Amino acid sequence: MLLADVVFASAALAATRSRKAKIATLAELINRAGEDELPAVVAFLTGQPSQGRIGTGWRTLADLGAAPAAEPGLAVAEVDAALGEVAGLSGSGSAKRRAEALHALFARATADEQRFLFRLLTGELRQGALEGVMVDAIAAAAEVPGEAVRRAFMLSGRLPVTALAAVTGGEQALGEFRLRLGRPLRPMLASPAESLDEALREHGSVLVEYKMDGARIQVHRQGDEVHVYTRTLREITANVAELVRLVRELPCESVVLDGETLALTDDGRPRPFQETMSRFGSSREEQVRELLLRPYFFDCLHLDGVDLLDAPLRERNAALRSVVGEHLIPGEVEPEDASAILDAALDAGHEGVMVKSLDSVYAAGRRGRAWLKVKPVHTLDLVVLGAEWGHGRRTGYLSNLHLGARDPDGGPPIMVGKTFKGLTDELLAWQTKRLQEIEARRDDWTVYVRPELVVEIELDGAQVSPRYPGGVALRFARVVRYRPDKEPADADTIDAVRATLKGGA
Ligand code: AMP
Repeated sequence: MLLADVVFASAALAATRSRKAKIATLAELINRAGEDELPAVVAFLTGQPSQGRIGTGWRTLADLGAAPAAEPGLAVAEVDAALGEVAGLSGSGSAKRRAEALHALFARATADEQRFLFRLLTGELRQGALEGVMVDAIAAAAEVPGEAVRRAFMLSGRLPVTALAAVTGGEQALGEFRLRLGRPLRPMLASPAESLDEALREHGSVLVEYKMDGARIQVHRQGDEVHVYTRTLREITANVAELVRLVRELPCESVVLDGETLALTDDGRPRPFQETMSRFGSSREEQVRELLLRPYFFDCLHLDGVDLLDAPLRERNAALRSVVGEHLIPGEVEPEDASAILDAALDAGHEGVMVKSLDSVYAAGRRGRAWLKVKPVHTLDLVVLGAEWGHGRRTGYLSNLHLGARDPDGGPPIMVGKTFKGLTDELLAWQTKRLQEIEARRDDWTVYVRPELVVEIELDGAQVSPRYPGGVALRFARVVRYRPDKEPADADTIDAVRATLKGGA
């Protein structure tokens, strides 16, 4: 298959808003790709080289200066091999050799292909939002149920290998993906509920737990070996020595736990989220002592040789309680008074509660209704699309943020509003620098950025607005905080924004 075919399909994906059309385009390409090139095709179409990041900066790529080829002739497999080679270069002189190898590759690409490769390698094409569409396309191409693909993707964390298994071995090969100790799986997510009553009405038997405001962790332990991962499956074991020590002490041989971690103040209230997140980027001992992270576990996916993914929550929760001791998140199975738990959570400074169906299995990938979050304050996680230069006291700072909601059908984020409220001086300074690092273009007033950053916004609701492309605009939006633990694929969708419309318009 030629790179030109992928570039053509990528343009077709961008040109339509129809989920069905996108699935058809992707499925057709998956079916046409040979086995050896399929993983790369799937990786390219979700905007990533199959090697992940290949470690080449924007500057190097912008300076390549290769004249484009007149005719398309590059095969996907050749591009994949060349990128593999570039990714493998290290040591002295590697920057120069990398630039040479990339120059040779770009010189064989047409102008369209060069643009595609540039965007692929700078991360600009990265389309987390397309993952859900790709899952459906793999299912369509391989003629297997979507659930089988979703489950294999949850377990492998990687779409290219999932696609290859689906196409070459069908449902059986997909069923062979197992939970493996030391390989993180994609986390299960929650959907919002309007109120506690609504959440309780929706499920029969429930578990009600505090929804704590920290950072998600997934912990794997086998014997003395412990690994800790973030929500985006990044390994942070080296930064969280205190968590590792504590998990090593648990009374078991092997375990996989899902939980939330945060630091507390001296009187036991949660410390600001930024402080917890800052720990994920650093392993300096003095910080560790200053800011001790505590884990609050809420799920158990494996215990002493037994996989629990397909067991109902009732069973997983019993396993959890048998092993984590005091590190259990506060909550109650089939509570008599769920509102008392909500009140207690809010009194203790937490966000709200989770209401979970005790009959549900662990399923990632799609925001299901098995876990419902109940929070009194309305917040949405939105994608930063750009920011306008400030005035007065904010002159020289990027201030008014342009905010986008996720298109559930895999298109680019849809703008739903702007805000400059809630930004501290520290955040203003930080975003002025950070946004220019991911700048896509600018005009006199605004710096537009690649859609990479997620920001949590508190709002009063939404209103109908013909001025915005999704037909809705945020009312009284203000920044709560940036969410470095989330990717644009985790942002709230345009449907979630519409669900907050006042007056049901
Ligand atoms: P949200 O990020 O608003 O979709 O809420 C889901 C997140 O809440 C999860 O990814 C966890 O990081 C966090 N969380 C806090 N407490 C719980 C809990 N008891 N169960 C599940 N997730 C929780």
